Amino acid sequence: MQIRTGLGFDVHRLAEGETLWLGGVLIPHYKGTVAHSDGDVLIHAICDALLGALALGDIGSHFPDTDMAYKDVDSKILLSEVVKLVKERGWSISNVDSTISAQKPKLRPYIDDIRAKLADILEIDVDAVSVKATTTEKLGFEGEEIGISALASVLLLKA
Ligand code: MG
Repeated sequence: MQIRTGLGFDVHRLAEGETLWLGGVLIPHYKGTVAHSDGDVLIHAICDALLGALALGDIGSHFPDTDMAYKDVDSKILLSEVVKLVKERGWSISNVDSTISAQKPKLRPYIDDIRAKLADILEIDVDAVSVKATTTEKLGFEGEEIGISALASVLLLKA
């Protein structure tokens, strides 16, 4: 049995009048992410964790933000593409853990929806998908609501 671990991190700026997608779920909030894609920081961090585990570069190298094909792209599609790359190489995803850092809104009510959505795209059980949320105690860009960040860690297995 071979084992690989990967980590991912992503940040987006927040602005009024933009949409806030997290883990493929639209979160009602007065601010959203500024991005070339739909700005889903959580999915982007998970993509980078999966790509990182296989040393396949990062999300920017696979889906360049200079490419108009990815303008406002649904990040769920990007994650599906990355999952395909993982499977093509004979790996399976053991589990995903993640943390979103945002001062607002309170994310607890959306966590189970996000986990279910991610589990569906990752094609693994929902109990292998962890999504946590934290504030940064009003410190830093997340705490000042200037931006939002996400960290993800994955474990891949190959028989
Ligand atoms: Mg991003």
